Amino acid sequence: MDTLKPVIVEIGETLENPGDSLPLTGSLPIDSYSTGEKEFTLADGVSYDVVLTNAGDGILVSGIVRGHAEGQCDRCLEPASFDISGEIEEYYLFEEPEDAEAYEDGFELVGPDRTVDLSGAIWDAMVMDTPFVVLCRPDCAGLCPMCGANLNEGPCGCAEAAEQAWVDSDENPFAALKNLKLD
Ligand SMILES: [Zn+2]
Ligand SMILES: [Zn+2]
Repeated sequence: MDTLKPVIVEIGETLENPGDSLPLTGSLPIDSYSTGEKEFTLADGVSYDVVLTNAGDGILVSGIVRGHAEGQCDRCLEPASFDISGEIEEYYLFEEPEDAEAYEDGFELVGPDRTVDLSGAIWDAMVMDTPFVVLCRPDCAGLCPMCGANLNEGPCGCAEAAEQAWVDSDENPFAALKNLKLD
């Protein structure tokens, strides 16, 4: 999936006054997510741990989303996994501001029924913490561009063969020397 179902939190009495705050934890039982072209599976969904604070003109939500994702190594195409530990940060204003540009980091609005939807903020945090390049291990050797062998399992011989071919080829400026007969 490429969005989350709504995660609705009611702003009850505990968040009524400026300075009030409410810690909140929960988990979302999603089994996969995608960013761009890539799809990742989540063995145990994701869990979030946030604090909602009444900041006067809105509700500030900050915290963290965690999960363990599995996908494909970008170099060798074998399974690759990584931990998500993304920072959640979102501001939900009670009313549409007159000067929206004053909020440089953007904002959401508190719903007319005095609720906030955390799903967008959690989603953003997950995507932000998903590595741009996913590797099975930092030094993954990848696939041989010639024969497609997984080079993590050892050399396939193409590199040596190519080197030999080049030594023997006409493009090698030194190839002619081989045939040079020194009397
Ligand atoms: Zn790899
Ligand atoms: Zn090869």
